[in-house]
Amino acid sequence: MATDRYTYCIVGGGLAGASAAEGIREYDKSGSILLMGAETHLPYHRPPLSKTLWTGKKMVDDIFVHAREYYNDSGVTLALGVLATGIDPNRKSLTTDTGANYHYKKLLLATGGMPRKLPIPGADLEGICYFRYLDDYHRIREEATPGKSILVIGGGFIGSELAAALAMNKLDVTMIFPAPYLCDRVFPDYLGKALERLYTTRGIRMLKGDAPSSIKKRGGKFITLTRGGREIESDIVAVGIGIAPDEGLAKEAALKTGDGIIVNEYLQTSHPDIYAAGDNARFPYQALGQQMRVEHWDNALNQGKCAGRNMAEAREAYAYMPYFFSDLFEFGYEAVGEVTAALQTFADWEKENATGVIYYTKEGVVRGVMMCNVWEKVDAARELIRKREGASPDHLRGLIHS
Ligand code: NAP
Repeated sequence: MATDRYTYCIVGGGLAGASAAEGIREYDKSGSILLMGAETHLPYHRPPLSKTLWTGKKMVDDIFVHAREYYNDSGVTLALGVLATGIDPNRKSLTTDTGANYHYKKLLLATGGMPRKLPIPGADLEGICYFRYLDDYHRIREEATPGKSILVIGGGFIGSELAAALAMNKLDVTMIFPAPYLCDRVFPDYLGKALERLYTTRGIRMLKGDAPSSIKKRGGKFITLTRGGREIESDIVAVGIGIAPDEGLAKEAALKTGDGIIVNEYLQTSHPDIYAAGDNARFPYQALGQQMRVEHWDNALNQGKCAGRNMAEAREAYAYMPYFFSDLFEFGYEAVGEVTAALQTFADWEKENATGVIYYTKEGVVRGVMMCNVWEKVDAARELIRKREGASPDHLRGLIHS
C-alpha cells in the first residue's frame, strides 16, 4: 500500500483541528499539512447550532471556520469524510477507513467527543437525534415546523439551548432531565430554579427529576416512557446527555488516557510527537493548578492553535483561560474558570437572577466567575482567578459589574 508523507497530520476536522493548521502556519510556512475529518463539511463553529442559527442572527454559510480557498491557499490538504482507524507511534503512521496510509512527523489528535447514547430500549430508533453535528441541525431544522411537538432529553448545555431555541421557533417543547433543576452542574440552585420559571412562562413543559426508560414509535410519533411513570408523545426527540471524549485511537496506541487524552503543558501526549487538543484533551489548567478537560468552543480555538504552534516547534505552554457562553431566551452569560455548582457561590446581583456576577469560591478563593448579562468583563474575571487570593463577599461586591 502506498504511503503519503506529511510533515503534520491533524486528525479531527473540527475547530481544534482547523485552528491547529493556523497555528502551524504561524511558525512553519511550508511544511505539508493533512487535515482529516470524519464529517464531510469543512470545519465549522458549533455554538451557532443551538443558538444563533435559530434566531436568524447567523446563517449556515456563516459558521465555517474558513472558506475552502483558505485551505488551498495555505497548503492544507483536506481529507473530509475520512475516519482514522489506527496510529502507530513507532512508525509514525496513520491508517484510515478508506484504506489510505499516511506517514507524519507530528500528529495531532483533535477528535473531540461523541454524544452519549441513552442506556434504554429504543435508544437507537430511527429518527432520534443525538444533537451535536451540523447534519443534526439540518435534520431538526427540517422537521421543526411551528406547532410540532419535541421532547428534549437532557437539561445541560444542549438541552437548555435547544429547548429555548425551539420554543422561540413556536414548537411545543417538553424537557426531561434527572436533576432537580436546569443546568445543575453549572448553575447554583437559585439561578437554575429562576431560569426554570422563565422556561415555564415561555411555554416549555419541564419534567425534572425524571428520565426516559424506553422509547418506541406509534403511528409516526415517538412514545417515551419515563422512570416516573409518565408517557410522553412527541413528533421529534432530541437528546443532549453529554459526550464521551474520543480517545479510542490514543488508547489503542497505548498513549496515556483517563477521561481524555493526557497531555502536558505543551499539549504533547505521552508520545512527544503526538499532540491532543480540544474536547478530548486532559491538560494542566495552569491558573487553577489542576488537570482538566474543557468541552467548550474557546478552548478548542485556542488550544488547537497552541498545539499547532508547538507541533511547529514553538514550545509554548498553554496558559490560556478559556471562557464559555450561553444564550437562554433573554438570559445570556459568559463564564470562565471552574464554574461548577459543587463550589460555594456568592452572587452580586444588579437585578436578581438576571443581571449580575456569580463568584464560585473554594476556601474563600475565587475559582470561577459567571457574568450574567454582564458583557466584556471576562479578562477582569481571569485576572481575579489568576491571583488566587482570598476574597470575601465584601471585597467582591461591585468588583465586576455591567
Ligand atoms: P451536558 O451539559 O453534560 O448535559 C448533560 C445533561 O444530560 C445533564 O442535564 C444530565 O443530567 C442529563 N442526563 C444525563 N443522563 C441522562 C438520561 N439518561 N436521561 C436524561 N437526561 C440525562 O451535555 P450536553 O448538553 O449534551 O452538551 C454536550 C457538549 O456540548 C458538552 O461538551 C458541552 O460543553 C458542549 N456544549 C457547550 C455549550 C456552551 O458552551 N454553551 C453549548 C452546547 C453544547 P445530570 O446533570 O443530572 O447528570
